[in-house]
Amino acid sequence: MWMVLIDSSADADAVKRELIARGQWVRPTDRGFVLEPHSSRVSADELAKIPGVVQVVSPKSSHPKIDAQGPVVDVAGVKVGVGNKPVLMSGPCAVESEERIQQIAKKLAPRGALFLRGGAFKPRTSPYAFQGHGEVALQWMRRAADHNGMRVVTEAMAESEVPLVAEYADLLQIGSRNMANYALLKAAGKARKPVLLKRSMSATVSEWLQAGEYLLVHGASGVIFCERGIRGFDESTRNLLDLGAVALLSHVHRLPVVVDPSHGTGRRDLVLPLARAALSAGAAGVMIETHDDPGRALSDGPQALRPEELDALASEVLR
Ligand code: PEP
Ligand code: MN
Repeated sequence: MWMVLIDSSADADAVKRELIARGQWVRPTDRGFVLEPHSSRVSADELAKIPGVVQVVSPKSSHPKIDAQGPVVDVAGVKVGVGNKPVLMSGPCAVESEERIQQIAKKLAPRGALFLRGGAFKPRTSPYAFQGHGEVALQWMRRAADHNGMRVVTEAMAESEVPLVAEYADLLQIGSRNMANYALLKAAGKARKPVLLKRSMSATVSEWLQAGEYLLVHGASGVIFCERGIRGFDESTRNLLDLGAVALLSHVHRLPVVVDPSHGTGRRDLVLPLARAALSAGAAGVMIETHDDPGRALSDGPQALRPEELDALASEVLR
């Protein structure tokens, strides 16, 4: 992405026409034009020859390490990202018991889920709601994943929890409510692991990318972005799943992005159609909540699928 600075006496409209003729998408600024990332590739030298242009500069990105990361992140030997087979991350909202997580993992592994998800520490809107079983749930989850050849992705909610969660997780999850908790991002980075960074329900893409930058600055080995829906005005779905942002991150920024249509819609009947749409938009994988008895789930039952319900998706697009 370039910034084209023009002479104060230059005809800005004429410069703009010349830029557009060279396949550039331009955004005016007070000193010239910013060329958007989806513009055609043109050398700075060629742009500098346009009459009225005084300088072509590369504006300093607010997330240089994210820009340089590349499209693929390795998580304990599994490559997640652009150009690789899409990954399925699945499991219950919360890890409820050892038997239950073993049972769910056993059903998910043969369906191609390489990652077992589940919360041991749960961010709940109500302080009276089930908060997760904590450390023992991490142990149950690790055993269930190892037993079935899966990787573990699970959330750390507080700085003080990071070292413990990092002992058990292959991929550390930062939840939507904590995307802008910079103390937590620093602590998560220090664990030197890959991180799944969920988008805050009120974050712009730029804020999300800069949160990713925090993780890399502090030592994370890679950042996988996770779109999980933003707050909309319409209550017919739990959130507004922003697939435009997914396409932007994947196709323009060339970053690995996973989509969570479970929290994105809050409705089990919409999870599979949105998972397919996400993969079409460029997602490197999907995170889907599953439970062997959704009616009895301790949290998020209405959006949970049974593992068997993933068969069609797995056979169509994930294999
Ligand atoms: C989760 O994935 O367990 C979760 C709580 O999701 P989010 O942070 O997106 O609300
Ligand atoms: Mn949930």
